[in-house]
Amino acid sequence: PQSIAPQSDRPGGLAQVAHIIAVSSCKGGVGKSTTAVNLAYTLAQMGARVGIFDADVYGPSLPTMVSPEEKVMRMDPATRALTPTEYEGVKLVSFGFAGQGSAIMRGPMVSGLVQQLLTTAQWGALDYLVVDFPPGTGDIQLTLCQSVGFSAAVIVTTPQKLSFIDVAKGIRMFARLLVPCVAVVENMAYFEADGKRHFPFGRGSGERIQSEFGLPNLTRMPIVPDLSAAGDGGRPLVVADPTCAASQDYMQLGAAV
Ligand code: ADP
Repeated sequence: PQSIAPQSDRPGGLAQVAHIIAVSSCKGGVGKSTTAVNLAYTLAQMGARVGIFDADVYGPSLPTMVSPEEKVMRMDPATRALTPTEYEGVKLVSFGFAGQGSAIMRGPMVSGLVQQLLTTAQWGALDYLVVDFPPGTGDIQLTLCQSVGFSAAVIVTTPQKLSFIDVAKGIRMFARLLVPCVAVVENMAYFEADGKRHFPFGRGSGERIQSEFGLPNLTRMPIVPDLSAAGDGGRPLVVADPTCAASQDYMQLGAAV
């Protein structure tokens, strides 16, 4: 990880968080949450204090991808401050861990609620907070970017969805808000069979995007059945099998943020 000067003027429960990393995609289903969760646990394995904020109100994935003992975050009745739940040493906040109270958090002012959940959680001292953005570049994403200072953004996409227009939109949104995009993850880039790499969705677009936008890092993540199985099973692959090839690829991404 780079040593970017930590920011100390963040609101509320974020006051002692050094770096906030946005993991973003233009479209759903490209593996953004898988990337966010495995990146977070990779950073933890590198020795950092880490938290994950799942910013998706309507379809939170964190409760499927990790299985903390405490499935519901505690809330201080007086201050309404939330205590993140925890799994394998990483602090977790998601609308999916809000329990019965989650109904009162749904409504038209989603972006306000997302911001509120992010800033009222008592994160404590963290080196990295990884924020799993909802897909797209709309209101929720803008409000999130404007409410806390992000240190860096990671854009996740798949080869067939590497449309310049969409990826450019994401990169430009972060650029306008002075958040550097430090890496693009070309997810599901290939699979290995019979000792060969196969590129079912085509190849080459990752490099084009990287050179067009001058992005310093491109991580090509293959299709790995174990990655999907681990995510569905509540134990991220980098935790279940830290030495496998995919976990090594996440180490490369972890070094880029
Ligand atoms: P998003 O957050 O972009 O909607 P997810 O991370 O939920 O996407 O991933 C969508 C599905 O694809 C999940 O079932 C996940 O396990 C699977 N998946 C993601 N990346 C990979 C990969 N590299 N190899 C195999 N399966 C993957």
